[in-house]
Amino acid sequence: MYVLKGKSVFGGIAVGKILFYKKPKDKIKLYKVEDKTAELERFNLAKEISFKQLEELYEKALAEVGEANAMIIQVHQMMLEDLDYLESIKNIILTQGVNAEYAVGVTGDNFAQIFSTMDDEYMKERAADVLDISNRIVRVLSKEEDNKIQFMEPVIIAADDLAPSETIQLDKNKVLSFITMEGSTNSHTAILARTMNIPAVIGIGKDLAEEFDGKLALVDGFTGTVYIEPEEAILKEMEIKKQKEEEKKALLQELKGKENVTKDGKKINIYANVGGTLDIGAVLLNDAGGIGLFRSEFLYLEKESFPSEEEQFASYKYVAESMAGKKVIIRTLDIGADKQVGYFNLPREENPALGFRAIRICLTDKEIFKTQLRALYRASAYGNLSIMFPMITSLEEVLEIKEIIKEVKAELKQTGIGFKEDLEIGIMIETPAAVMISDELAQEVDFFSIGTNDLTQYTLAIDRQNPKLDKFYNPHHKAILKMIQIAADNAHKYGKWIGICGELAGDLSLTETFLRMGIDELSVSPALVLGLRNKVRETNLSKSI
Ligand code: PEP
Ligand code: MG
Repeated sequence: MYVLKGKSVFGGIAVGKILFYKKPKDKIKLYKVEDKTAELERFNLAKEISFKQLEELYEKALAEVGEANAMIIQVHQMMLEDLDYLESIKNIILTQGVNAEYAVGVTGDNFAQIFSTMDDEYMKERAADVLDISNRIVRVLSKEEDNKIQFMEPVIIAADDLAPSETIQLDKNKVLSFITMEGSTNSHTAILARTMNIPAVIGIGKDLAEEFDGKLALVDGFTGTVYIEPEEAILKEMEIKKQKEEEKKALLQELKGKENVTKDGKKINIYANVGGTLDIGAVLLNDAGGIGLFRSEFLYLEKESFPSEEEQFASYKYVAESMAGKKVIIRTLDIGADKQVGYFNLPREENPALGFRAIRICLTDKEIFKTQLRALYRASAYGNLSIMFPMITSLEEVLEIKEIIKEVKAELKQTGIGFKEDLEIGIMIETPAAVMISDELAQEVDFFSIGTNDLTQYTLAIDRQNPKLDKFYNPHHKAILKMIQIAADNAHKYGKWIGICGELAGDLSLTETFLRMGIDELSVSPALVLGLRNKVRETNLSKSI
């Protein structure tokens, strides 16, 4: 038995086989080939295999996401047969006498470049597709596994690190746990593990060796320990621990339907954070009063091209209807930094967390923004939706957003599409700038929601992604707590409500502090809702501290 230690991201015990996920190597090697005709044959064979893979993928997509969404796979198949594309690859192999991987890589890059400079929006979007099919052929040529993590049985996923875009594509019903060599507890991958209710241990380091692939393992998400080929005694011990956890959970079930009220009568809203429509079941199961943060960017992350207005509308409508009149706060696209999407073609940046991201992208590429806003306003007719904007730093941004909203509403009115006129509009308070001008901002919006994950990163000047800085990343820092108080006072001064949707909202050691500050809402991972309700109900604010 090997015992590995890492950082706990989410509690729980998991037992199962390890599947080691190897990331595709993205550097294509260039080398000269002796037999050019044989190299061309090698390419033709890889093309045929890629085509077959796409056929299978199409069938799977058809069954899982419907014909409209599966069509993109057919577009890939058509591209794979495109004569100009094939001619370019053939020419490079035959005239330069180089390997097929290189010829495909160069052709893919060239075609993507041409597509991305076209005026037509549809053609622009094809840049990501041509890169995707080229990568597929290169993977087949280099005999690498398909990029997506695929498996039939439930497994423990092991990896050096997982990007949010890889995590979101996991089949949640088949992932028992994930364990990684690297990773920070404040990253979006860690947040996803909590939202998905999956025990996870990260930052294990090099001890997490690839040779463990296929071996039985036990993950103790409470202590951040992984046992490879666990001994009988450990398995028994953990079984008991698991049972105790189940008992605790069962006790919390009794709190369903009860109020979030302190012993002395102060009430607070407890909502849930979600990454997509698949999490709604957990929200309802845990009796959350609403959804305090729907991270809409995951709709973009799980796709290979921009989700259309119709697709987005269908998701938002589904959430609004499923929550049956309960509040659903949808945050607009918060892409960038660690949440990278290939088809956005975002530039590489020196400081991505301080870079071109979130509302900055939306206020630059307004069509992306307006598509989302149209989908949101249309969905507003089906439930109790609110919209929230991320990474706000100035009043001007809010005023510009409100102008764009006016345009979207006018366009919808013209087409006769129904929507709710007085939708609540809120902003995230996650930059020190927003805190410092929160009195001005409060006069322009209906609510604030504090993003303590980013507020901590920007206030303490600590990259939340850097695992080396985990011990310095201190959301309990006095500066953060003071900022929360400032924002709360300013919100209340203008009769607006304020919540917290960052991970700190679920920190039970601060629940009483937040209640005393006058925070009106706490939004946490679905699995934490009942535990937080319990904490609120045990609190007595009339006792002096
Ligand atoms: C935050 O920054 O606290 C937040 C809720 O947003 P995200 O974690 O998605 O950046
Ligand atoms: Mg944030």
